[in-house]
Amino acid sequence: MIENALLIKQGAEARVYTAPFLTRTAIIKERFPKTYRHPILDNKLTTRRVTQEARCLFKCYRSGVDTPVLYFVDIENNAIYMEFIKGKILKDLIVEMGEWSSSKYEELTTKIGVALAKMHSADVIHGDLTTSNLLLRESNNSLVVIDFGLSYISSLPEDKAVDLYVLEKTFLSTHPNSEAMFTAILDIYKNNYKASKDILSKLAE
Ligand code: AMP
Repeated sequence: MIENALLIKQGAEARVYTAPFLTRTAIIKERFPKTYRHPILDNKLTTRRVTQEARCLFKCYRSGVDTPVLYFVDIENNAIYMEFIKGKILKDLIVEMGEWSSSKYEELTTKIGVALAKMHSADVIHGDLTTSNLLLRESNNSLVVIDFGLSYISSLPEDKAVDLYVLEKTFLSTHPNSEAMFTAILDIYKNNYKASKDILSKLAE
């Protein structure tokens, strides 16, 4: 148990807490053991997942995408400490903003397209791109990508196309009449990522 931590999410693989960390507030993501697996194997797999998440988060940050700052990786307890982002999740923001118009959404779709282009240029596949894993930072309206729990590194156009496909599915199932919004995001993605041609043909396939 982490001191003064407040549980904010209990998932199937991890618990997410907020807690004071030095002078700041941190998000702590702690993966717990799976009792149906052999303990030695389980610990090995869990540690590998934690390392992979931290590595992808940091790689994305280094490539210029706004992500939570990585504070600390506690390998012993399979926990990642990162910056707590005060902001609004995109899922709620889109509901608040209401009906699509290209001018109203231009700033937002540009931010998303640019962030995805940078992330994929760095060969980071997010693995769970949904409008719940994108936040707008309250302090400066920057678009922040969170939850690298299913992320991995790959340069394959297929893997990047699947990442976009997952986001497309979320858009269409969560936000009515959002086809045009997703198309606008793809346009920005294409213009900001030279090697996107093969990815977009895979997505079309
Ligand atoms: P996750 O399992 O990483 O998706 O985290 C679960 C939930 O905790 C997310 O849906 C967010 O609402 C919140 N969360 C995770 N990471 C952060 C963060 N760095 N800053 C603020 N909220 C976060």
